[in-house]
Amino acid sequence: MVSQAVQDYLKAIFKLQKDSPVSTTELAKELNVSGASVTGMLKRLASMGLVEYNSYHGAKLTPSGEKVALETIRFHRLLELYLKEQLHYPLDKVHEEACKLEHFISEEFIERINEILGDPKFDPHGHPIPTKEGFLLNQDEIPLTDAEIGVSYTIGHLEDDNPELLAYLESLGLLPGTVIKIIEKLPFYGPISLKIKNSPKTHTIGFEVAKRIFVQK
Ligand SMILES: [Zn+2]
Repeated sequence: MVSQAVQDYLKAIFKLQKDSPVSTTELAKELNVSGASVTGMLKRLASMGLVEYNSYHGAKLTPSGEKVALETIRFHRLLELYLKEQLHYPLDKVHEEACKLEHFISEEFIERINEILGDPKFDPHGHPIPTKEGFLLNQDEIPLTDAEIGVSYTIGHLEDDNPELLAYLESLGLLPGTVIKIIEKLPFYGPISLKIKNSPKTHTIGFEVAKRIFVQK
Protein backbone atom coordinates (compact mmCIF):
# COMPACT_ATOMS: atom_id res chain seq x y z
CA MET A 1 0.00 0.00 0.00
CA VAL A 2 1.43 3.39 -0.99
CA SER A 3 1.07 6.49 1.18
CA GLN A 4 -1.61 9.16 0.84
CA ALA A 5 0.91 11.71 -0.51
CA VAL A 6 2.09 9.25 -3.16
CA GLN A 7 -1.50 8.63 -4.29
CA ASP A 8 -2.20 12.36 -4.49
CA TYR A 9 0.93 13.02 -6.57
CA LEU A 10 0.18 10.19 -8.99
CA LYS A 11 -3.41 11.38 -9.38
CA ALA A 12 -2.23 14.95 -10.06
CA ILE A 13 0.34 13.83 -12.65
CA PHE A 14 -2.31 11.66 -14.32
CA LYS A 15 -4.66 14.66 -14.50
CA LEU A 16 -2.04 17.06 -15.91
CA GLN A 17 -0.11 14.82 -18.29
CA LYS A 18 -1.70 14.90 -21.72
CA ASP A 19 0.88 14.07 -24.37
CA SER A 20 3.82 15.64 -22.60
CA PRO A 21 5.48 15.27 -19.17
CA VAL A 22 4.31 17.50 -16.31
CA SER A 23 6.62 20.25 -15.05
CA THR A 24 7.53 20.78 -11.40
CA THR A 25 5.86 24.22 -11.52
CA GLU A 26 2.54 22.81 -12.80
CA LEU A 27 2.54 20.14 -10.11
CA ALA A 28 3.42 22.59 -7.34
CA LYS A 29 0.48 24.76 -8.41
CA GLU A 30 -1.95 21.83 -8.64
CA LEU A 31 -1.00 20.41 -5.23
CA ASN A 32 -0.45 23.76 -3.58
CA VAL A 33 3.06 22.93 -2.32
CA SER A 34 6.55 24.37 -2.92
CA GLY A 35 8.67 23.53 -5.95
CA ALA A 36 11.34 22.07 -3.68
CA SER A 37 8.98 19.55 -2.10
CA VAL A 38 7.72 18.53 -5.56
CA THR A 39 11.29 17.86 -6.72
CA GLY A 40 11.98 15.77 -3.61
CA MET A 41 8.82 13.74 -4.04
CA LEU A 42 9.37 13.17 -7.77
CA LYS A 43 12.80 11.72 -7.04
CA ARG A 44 11.22 9.42 -4.48
CA LEU A 45 8.51 8.34 -6.92
CA ALA A 46 11.16 7.69 -9.57
CA SER A 47 13.11 5.48 -7.15
CA MET A 48 9.88 3.54 -6.49
CA GLY A 49 9.46 3.02 -10.25
CA LEU A 50 6.20 4.99 -10.36
CA VAL A 51 7.33 7.95 -12.49
CA GLU A 52 9.98 8.74 -15.03
CA TYR A 53 11.53 11.98 -13.89
CA ASN A 54 14.02 14.30 -15.47
CA SER A 55 14.58 17.74 -13.96
CA TYR A 56 14.63 19.31 -17.42
CA HIS A 57 11.54 17.70 -19.00
CA GLY A 58 9.46 16.95 -15.92
CA ALA A 59 7.61 13.84 -14.82
CA LYS A 60 5.46 11.21 -16.46
CA LEU A 61 3.86 8.08 -15.03
CA THR A 62 5.31 4.64 -15.65
CA PRO A 63 2.79 1.81 -16.27
CA SER A 64 2.87 0.93 -12.53
CA GLY A 65 2.42 4.60 -11.60
CA GLU A 66 -0.56 4.80 -13.94
CA LYS A 67 -2.05 1.67 -12.37
CA VAL A 68 -1.94 3.23 -8.89
CA ALA A 69 -3.33 6.55 -10.20
CA LEU A 70 -6.28 4.85 -11.94
CA GLU A 71 -7.02 2.76 -8.86
CA THR A 72 -7.11 5.90 -6.69
CA ILE A 73 -9.35 7.63 -9.25
CA ARG A 74 -11.67 4.57 -9.25
CA PHE A 75 -11.93 4.75 -5.45
CA HIS A 76 -12.55 8.51 -5.57
CA ARG A 77 -15.27 8.44 -8.20
CA LEU A 78 -17.13 5.43 -6.77
CA LEU A 79 -17.06 7.07 -3.33
CA GLU A 80 -18.46 10.29 -4.79
CA LEU A 81 -21.36 8.42 -6.35
CA TYR A 82 -21.98 6.44 -3.17
CA LEU A 83 -22.03 9.63 -1.08
CA LYS A 84 -24.49 11.23 -3.49
CA GLU A 85 -26.80 8.28 -4.15
CA GLN A 86 -26.81 6.38 -0.88
CA LEU A 87 -25.93 9.00 1.74
CA HIS A 88 -27.67 11.89 -0.07
CA TYR A 89 -24.76 14.31 0.05
CA PRO A 90 -25.27 17.43 -2.08
CA LEU A 91 -23.17 17.45 -5.26
CA ASP A 92 -20.90 20.24 -4.03
CA LYS A 93 -19.82 18.23 -0.96
CA VAL A 94 -18.90 14.86 -2.46
CA HIS A 95 -15.48 15.71 -3.92
CA GLU A 96 -13.95 16.94 -0.68
CA GLU A 97 -15.27 13.99 1.32
CA ALA A 98 -14.11 11.46 -1.28
CA CYS A 99 -10.64 13.06 -1.32
CA LYS A 100 -10.29 12.18 2.36
CA LEU A 101 -11.91 8.73 2.32
CA GLU A 102 -10.19 7.39 -0.80
CA HIS A 103 -6.92 6.85 1.08
CA PHE A 104 -8.32 4.72 3.89
CA ILE A 105 -10.58 2.13 2.34
CA SER A 106 -9.77 -1.36 1.12
CA GLU A 107 -10.36 -2.90 -2.27
CA GLU A 108 -13.03 -5.14 -0.76
CA PHE A 109 -14.86 -2.07 0.58
CA ILE A 110 -14.84 -0.32 -2.79
CA GLU A 111 -15.94 -3.43 -4.68
CA ARG A 112 -18.91 -3.78 -2.33
CA ILE A 113 -19.81 -0.16 -3.01
CA ASN A 114 -19.47 -0.85 -6.72
CA GLU A 115 -21.87 -3.78 -6.41
CA ILE A 116 -24.45 -1.79 -4.45
CA LEU A 117 -24.30 0.95 -7.09
CA GLY A 118 -24.70 -1.60 -9.90
CA ASP A 119 -21.26 -1.28 -11.53
CA PRO A 120 -21.78 2.38 -12.60
CA LYS A 121 -19.93 3.96 -15.51
CA PHE A 122 -19.89 7.62 -14.39
CA ASP A 123 -19.43 9.62 -11.18
CA PRO A 124 -21.95 12.35 -10.20
CA HIS A 125 -19.90 15.01 -12.03
CA GLY A 126 -20.08 12.96 -15.22
CA HIS A 127 -16.47 11.69 -15.11
CA PRO A 128 -15.99 8.09 -16.27
CA ILE A 129 -15.11 5.61 -13.51
CA PRO A 130 -12.01 3.52 -14.35
CA THR A 131 -12.78 -0.21 -14.36
CA LYS A 132 -11.19 -2.60 -11.87
CA GLU A 133 -8.79 -3.60 -14.64
CA GLY A 134 -7.71 0.04 -15.06
CA PHE A 135 -9.57 0.87 -18.26
CA LEU A 136 -10.70 4.49 -18.51
CA LEU A 137 -13.23 5.62 -21.10
CA ASN A 138 -12.01 8.48 -23.26
CA GLN A 139 -14.47 11.37 -23.21
CA ASP A 140 -15.03 13.16 -26.47
CA GLU A 141 -16.23 16.46 -25.03
CA ILE A 142 -15.70 20.15 -25.63
CA PRO A 143 -16.09 23.10 -23.24
CA LEU A 144 -19.46 24.82 -23.59
CA THR A 145 -17.60 27.95 -24.70
CA ASP A 146 -16.64 26.11 -27.93
CA ALA A 147 -20.19 24.85 -28.62
CA GLU A 148 -22.19 26.20 -31.57
CA ILE A 149 -25.36 28.27 -31.37
CA GLY A 150 -28.64 26.43 -32.07
CA VAL A 151 -27.22 22.90 -31.84
CA SER A 152 -28.34 20.47 -29.11
CA TYR A 153 -25.65 19.22 -26.75
CA THR A 154 -25.71 16.90 -23.74
CA ILE A 155 -23.76 17.94 -20.67
CA GLY A 156 -21.01 15.38 -20.18
CA HIS A 157 -19.04 16.42 -17.14
CA LEU A 158 -18.48 19.36 -14.82
CA GLU A 159 -15.19 20.28 -13.15
CA ASP A 160 -15.45 18.84 -9.65
CA ASP A 161 -13.10 21.09 -7.69
CA ASN A 162 -15.20 24.21 -7.14
CA PRO A 163 -18.04 23.54 -4.64
CA GLU A 164 -19.69 26.98 -4.97
CA LEU A 165 -19.80 26.66 -8.73
CA LEU A 166 -21.25 23.14 -8.52
CA ALA A 167 -23.96 24.26 -6.12
CA TYR A 168 -24.79 27.08 -8.54
CA LEU A 169 -24.96 24.76 -11.57
CA GLU A 170 -27.10 22.29 -9.62
CA SER A 171 -29.50 25.11 -8.72
CA LEU A 172 -29.84 25.97 -12.43
CA GLY A 173 -30.37 22.31 -13.36
CA LEU A 174 -27.18 22.20 -15.44
CA LEU A 175 -26.10 18.68 -14.51
CA PRO A 176 -24.54 15.79 -16.47
CA GLY A 177 -27.06 14.26 -18.84
CA THR A 178 -29.04 17.48 -19.32
CA VAL A 179 -29.70 18.48 -22.95
CA ILE A 180 -29.11 22.16 -23.72
CA LYS A 181 -29.02 24.53 -26.67
CA ILE A 182 -27.13 27.84 -26.88
CA ILE A 183 -29.33 30.78 -27.88
CA GLU A 184 -26.76 33.55 -27.86
CA LYS A 185 -23.03 33.96 -27.35
CA LEU A 186 -21.67 37.46 -26.84
CA PRO A 187 -18.24 38.25 -28.31
CA PHE A 188 -15.01 38.91 -26.41
CA TYR A 189 -15.55 36.15 -23.82
CA GLY A 190 -18.99 37.54 -23.01
CA PRO A 191 -21.93 35.73 -21.39
CA ILE A 192 -23.71 32.77 -22.98
CA SER A 193 -27.50 32.34 -23.02
CA LEU A 194 -28.92 28.87 -23.21
CA LYS A 195 -32.09 26.85 -22.87
CA ILE A 196 -32.57 23.49 -21.16
CA LYS A 197 -34.62 20.99 -23.21
CA ASN A 198 -38.34 21.06 -22.33
CA SER A 199 -37.97 24.21 -20.24
CA PRO A 200 -39.18 27.60 -21.47
CA LYS A 201 -36.71 29.56 -19.33
CA THR A 202 -33.49 31.05 -20.72
CA HIS A 203 -30.39 30.98 -18.50
CA THR A 204 -27.49 33.36 -18.96
CA ILE A 205 -24.13 32.27 -17.57
CA GLY A 206 -20.71 33.89 -17.60
CA PHE A 207 -17.83 32.76 -19.82
CA GLU A 208 -15.81 31.54 -16.83
CA VAL A 209 -18.73 29.33 -15.74
CA ALA A 210 -19.32 27.97 -19.26
CA LYS A 211 -15.64 27.04 -19.55
CA ARG A 212 -16.12 24.49 -16.76
CA ILE A 213 -19.09 22.72 -18.35
CA PHE A 214 -18.14 20.03 -20.89
CA VAL A 215 -20.60 18.91 -23.54
CA GLN A 216 -21.00 16.49 -26.41
CA LYS A 217 -23.29 16.50 -29.47
ZN1 LIG B 1 -14.01 14.46 -7.32
